[in-house]
Amino acid sequence: MTRHIPHGIPDRIRHYIDGAWADSLGGETFDVLDPVTNEVYVQASAGQQADVDRAVAAAKRAFDEGPWPRLLPRQRSRVLHRIADLVEASDRRLAELETFDTGLPITQSLGQAQRAAENFRFFADLIVAQHDDAFKVPGRQMNYVNRKPKGVAGLITPWNTPFMLESWKLAPALATGNTVVLKPAEFTPLSASLWADIFREAGLPDGVFNLVNGLGEEAGDALVKHPDVPLISFTGESSTGSLIFANAAPFLKGLSMELGGKSPAVVFADADLEAALDATLFGVFSLNGERCTAGSRILVERSIYDEFVARYAARAEKIVVGDPADPATEVGALVHPEHYAKVMSYVEIGKAEARLVAGGGRPDGFGESGNWVAPTVFADVSPDARIFQEEIFGPVVAITPFDDDAEALRLANHTKYGLAAYIWTNDLKRAHTFAQNVEAGMVWLNSNNVRDLRTPFGGVKASGLGHEGGYRSIDFYTDQQAVHITL
Ligand code: NAD
Repeated sequence: MTRHIPHGIPDRIRHYIDGAWADSLGGETFDVLDPVTNEVYVQASAGQQADVDRAVAAAKRAFDEGPWPRLLPRQRSRVLHRIADLVEASDRRLAELETFDTGLPITQSLGQAQRAAENFRFFADLIVAQHDDAFKVPGRQMNYVNRKPKGVAGLITPWNTPFMLESWKLAPALATGNTVVLKPAEFTPLSASLWADIFREAGLPDGVFNLVNGLGEEAGDALVKHPDVPLISFTGESSTGSLIFANAAPFLKGLSMELGGKSPAVVFADADLEAALDATLFGVFSLNGERCTAGSRILVERSIYDEFVARYAARAEKIVVGDPADPATEVGALVHPEHYAKVMSYVEIGKAEARLVAGGGRPDGFGESGNWVAPTVFADVSPDARIFQEEIFGPVVAITPFDDDAEALRLANHTKYGLAAYIWTNDLKRAHTFAQNVEAGMVWLNSNNVRDLRTPFGGVKASGLGHEGGYRSIDFYTDQQAVHITL
């Protein structure tokens, strides 16, 4: 495959501290690979404790002494709208770089860049509409809520759709008047470095946004343990989340955790089968299957099971795997050779545990280099199989039959995760009853991939702690002080 290298890749991906680019004080770097060839295309500065200290000090100064937390909501909102305008105006360029760094199909990266702009626009609007409680007992007392930004927000993000997921934290943290230190994922640091110029052009004061690249165990760990960072918003694996939870405990930090998933898509015999097929294919094979809310377990009512499996497998075989930069591509290259090895190991585990009906390895004709996985479908998967229980985070799906509603619910809830659930049925009562009983933070009924930014986003069980989205994000990034007055 010909390697498509976009113009304007920096000579090094650096930290951005107090309005200036910076290398690590000790000069440490790490390699960044492109997923199509797995060749090193750039070095990134590897942040250490001293670099995080510098970034936090800059953010703290900007919070304690700078204008940002003291601006009127309307003034901050204007800056956020300018950020959204700039992201929208350069969405194709952002998508090109994101695709190069992550291996995501270009059409899907473009959608993610547009979602990043929308996240800024949404919180820009929300912050001016924000109102807080006030209570009055006539002739006796008045009480009101004084909402204040918390300080330096530590934002730690994963490598899947990195630019969009960074915007999901940056927008509410900044809208509410905090200053931030962002630690993006080490597999995909390119798009995070683009925020610096966007923010500067939009008029964000120096020191409000700081970026430290580096490994989780070094830069991420130093941010989690920094005493001047009172809150951490983390998105990543459940096991990393629980480690961060423990490391933040001595400091009693505010934590928001958006973690892993193994979400069920439940297809009843009375469903619109065509729509369910389209959606369940999209649900696990879009974004290369590297999607936290992927419907990676499909539970199908036995009377339509054989037909569903046959049609699903035939459609999966037709999915176009190819160059992420090609608009015709539906599944690109997985992000990194380490992740590719993990996904491939699950493909082998699956072959021993279940019946392979599509894919099952590297697609033909892709040579040696790059992280290519054919969309892979396993049927007759036992609920105790590892491919039913464990998050694979790639284009691999497990299909399991069920006999009645009670069994469907038991199977849906039979994992440690509880992020999303998708239900396909034309029986309204069944749909709402199932939604009520399924252990998932978010449920889609006869739909997928639609979400209003005002709704809560988050998981239950091992999929997360706390919710963001709409006013919940405002709550996470602010303190609510109660003020009482005797009249
Ligand atoms: P990861 O947990 O390996 O890494 C996430 C981030 O944490 C990275 O920036 C990493 O450097 C950092 N990190 C790692 N160890 C750390 C430590 N000890 N201290 C501080 N920071 C540390 O996750 P990943 O592989 O990058 O991302 C994929 C995972 O993210 C999947 O499990 C996926 O389901 C989950 N995810 C969840 C959501 C959600 O909203 N629930 C969204 C996207 C991804």
